Amino acid sequence: MEWFRESGRKFPWRGEVGWYGVLLAEFLLVRTRSEVAERAFYELISRFPTPEALCLAGVAPVREVFKRIGLPSRAERLVATVCKVLKEHGGAIPCDYRELVRLPGVGDYIARVVLSRVCGEHVAFVDGNVLRVISRFLGFKLGLAEVAELLEKSVPKGELLNVNVALLDLGALLCKPQKTLCPLCPLSLRCFTSLRAGNVRSGVKSF
Ligand code: SF4
Repeated sequence: MEWFRESGRKFPWRGEVGWYGVLLAEFLLVRTRSEVAERAFYELISRFPTPEALCLAGVAPVREVFKRIGLPSRAERLVATVCKVLKEHGGAIPCDYRELVRLPGVGDYIARVVLSRVCGEHVAFVDGNVLRVISRFLGFKLGLAEVAELLEKSVPKGELLNVNVALLDLGALLCKPQKTLCPLCPLSLRCFTSLRAGNVRSGVKSF
């Protein structure tokens, strides 16, 4: 967490953006680099500042934005989901996994993000970045669900969201798919992969 506070990425959707902002971000982040998603997020939120505005605008103008990042089909599902939350859930996103995955375009990962970030539940959301960090740290591969369960069991309540986001950033910035920057990594002294490779981060505290 010390590393994250100093070096974590700052994105507009990491503030208090409510369910609407969280959904916009997650629909944009599917198979998109965060920097590209960030530009599109600003455009969406400025053109459609509320869920009502997006629902009223309909699919066509939203698709323009998604088309520029190569995901035009996601526009339709985003608009359908936002309109459904407004019309069928009274404008409050349901804090129930089964209800969430019934929303168009909302799968396991987005449902978990919503439960964690919007509903404040002790739920982990594991993408490729988190999976990679944990697998390298432990020295063996686990599945997405296993890593989620491991995090939920091992991280204290109230800290999971921050730890989860820190792991996302660690995977994006240091523990990259093709390259690991172990000497800079706060996990290096306990990481199986780093220790096996003989990487030791000088001056780092063990924790
Ligand atoms: S020490 Fe290296 S391999 Fe281990 S988690 Fe950090 S960057 Fe990844």
